[in-house]
Amino acid sequence: MIQPATHPAPSHPTTLAPHRPAAIDIPVALPRLPTLEHIIPYLAQIDTNRWYTNHGPLCAALQEQLARFWGLEYEHVALTTSATSGITLALNAHEVQPGLRCLMPSWTFTASAGAVVAAHLRPHFVDVRADTWCPDPTEMETLAQAPDVGAMLVVVPFGTPIDLAVWDGVSQRTGKPVIIDAAAAFDTLRADGPMPVAHCTTVVSMHATKVFGLGEGGAVLSRDPVLAERVRTLARFGFAGTRAAQLPGINAKISEYTAAVGLAGLDYWPRTRANWQAATALYRQHLPATLLPPGGCGDHWVTSTLNILWPDSATQLADTLAGQGIGSVSWWGTGCHTQPAYATCTRQPLPVTERLGHSALALPFWQDIGTEQVLRICATLTQALDSMDLNTAG
Ligand SMILES: *Cc1c(COP(=O)(O)O)cnc(C)c1O
Repeated sequence: MIQPATHPAPSHPTTLAPHRPAAIDIPVALPRLPTLEHIIPYLAQIDTNRWYTNHGPLCAALQEQLARFWGLEYEHVALTTSATSGITLALNAHEVQPGLRCLMPSWTFTASAGAVVAAHLRPHFVDVRADTWCPDPTEMETLAQAPDVGAMLVVVPFGTPIDLAVWDGVSQRTGKPVIIDAAAAFDTLRADGPMPVAHCTTVVSMHATKVFGLGEGGAVLSRDPVLAERVRTLARFGFAGTRAAQLPGINAKISEYTAAVGLAGLDYWPRTRANWQAATALYRQHLPATLLPPGGCGDHWVTSTLNILWPDSATQLADTLAGQGIGSVSWWGTGCHTQPAYATCTRQPLPVTERLGHSALALPFWQDIGTEQVLRICATLTQALDSMDLNTAG
């Protein structure tokens, strides 16, 4: 006999709490995503709709609202399970021939390199400029002349705006696609923001640790609706209207549950953004002047990471901070080229990447970080700077 579609009320699950090291009482990140009361109305709609994934109404609404947020049309956005899968599908959608090299910075999160390899391309690491933390466009354009270069991946460093028109130019002149890994640039890319979406295919992350988080999720943005549709097709097994795969696709769709969190988050995004601004302002007020974040950060655009360039070893500073119960992280480590998975990749000389890898460190940063916490962090930094001065003077 078929069971009726009602279920007994669930007993309460056991409490599932994350492990947090007791010695660190100021963690490096403490994400805050939409809470229960904001998500529930959307979950109720899912229950009513009985439509759980495969581009349901919540997913469509999220795509619509995000498109408007970024100053785009609905057709220009392809939602994916992550920015990582988005970058891979963007490269696939541009039909870059497998086996070719993809020029990219080593100074990025390891996911960028993983996405390139998953697209059957070989990363070729280039250095970044010390002023932009981004590859030099002239150097990239010269290197891209080589016949075995199929594509370029440019990373927007921690959401700091870069000149996208320059990269459109590089792509046009070389005839090779430039994909923009704008994973951390959700806000930087907004319609009236400092870096509106240009022509190059651009990928954003909505991972829990980014400024706008919905758990796991990404978006591929393209002003070319054909390209964006190819990404959507690749993300749903290659299906395009029939059950015959038109392209060798994967499953990178987002579910209605993910969309529910996203829609709830957009409902109060202005408040979330104001929180990030307030957190940045706190640091601006108390950080030693030499460690301040780039201008415009926390004002024209918000980011969820606060990196400093320490005049000495970041590892040593991390130890000093940990001694005071303060967490920190080197988000990009010492560059992709130093990681076992990518150690054999070809590369240019990387002196700036090596310098940044030695000295960049991210401090605790989250929406509702308190004055007391920022004061304690900044006091520890000031003290460490002072003792360094004493050492050099002595
Ligand atoms: C966060 C991040 C990614 C990965 O994004 P996911 O959505 O977690 O896959 C890739 N590149 C950069 C530069 C990032 O900051």
